[in-house]
Amino acid sequence: MYGELLHVVESLIRLFIPCRCLCCDAYLYDFEKYMCLDCLSNFPYTYFWENKYNPMLYRFMNLCKEENCELIPFNNISALALYYYSADSDYSNINKDLKYRSAISMGRYFSRLLSKFYHESYCFDKSAFVLPIPLHFMRKWKRSYNQSEIIAKEIADNLCMCLVLNLLYRKRYRKSQARVSMEDKLSNMNDVFAVHKERLQDLYKSREISFVIVDDLFTSGATMFSACKALLQACEELKIPKNYIKITIISLSFVRI
Ligand SMILES: [Zn+2]
Repeated sequence: MYGELLHVVESLIRLFIPCRCLCCDAYLYDFEKYMCLDCLSNFPYTYFWENKYNPMLYRFMNLCKEENCELIPFNNISALALYYYSADSDYSNINKDLKYRSAISMGRYFSRLLSKFYHESYCFDKSAFVLPIPLHFMRKWKRSYNQSEIIAKEIADNLCMCLVLNLLYRKRYRKSQARVSMEDKLSNMNDVFAVHKERLQDLYKSREISFVIVDDLFTSGATMFSACKALLQACEELKIPKNYIKITIISLSFVRI
């Protein structure tokens, strides 16, 4: 009954304020959501959830190699993203609208799609703790929300996983990564994150511990690398062996370089 009523209200709203496709701006039919069928049929899925040895994992592992840093054994790291991002493609509006135009419902919609593919993937782990990449509190205050938190919450809610918001935090305020060159991204992100160790101690109950780290955009991998490094340093201080730690890095989109 409630569902039918909601549908009627939605249809009435659409009658007066028609929805448009976020990619091509075409008017949407009743059965279309955020994107027209044409744009949806050409959606640039990565399909990383079908293959462990994907470009996102290789980019991340290469970064570890360049930094001379073996975080955890290769077999314990996985990576996946929903779609290929290109700044000049209309599909980039998904990221841009979520990050800069407060399109929260739309962000949740695509995050649900991402969670569905994560659920079907080779690396799905229901016991993992879901950690969004945190914003510095100043930036979160300015934007009023953290886009990575919205994605992470949707994944956790959909898959009945545990969302943990108070483990990772940013100890430094850094300029936005958006206008930083690829070479400078790593130095810009160096030593940015820290971990509340007492919270980690609370979470570490069994022999193994698994994390899903969630961000909105994966470009050089510097942000993920820096967050993983902080997390693993904290694990080391708590004497959690590297072999018992599993990490999956998940992003809404992946930038082709
Ligand atoms: Zn369209």
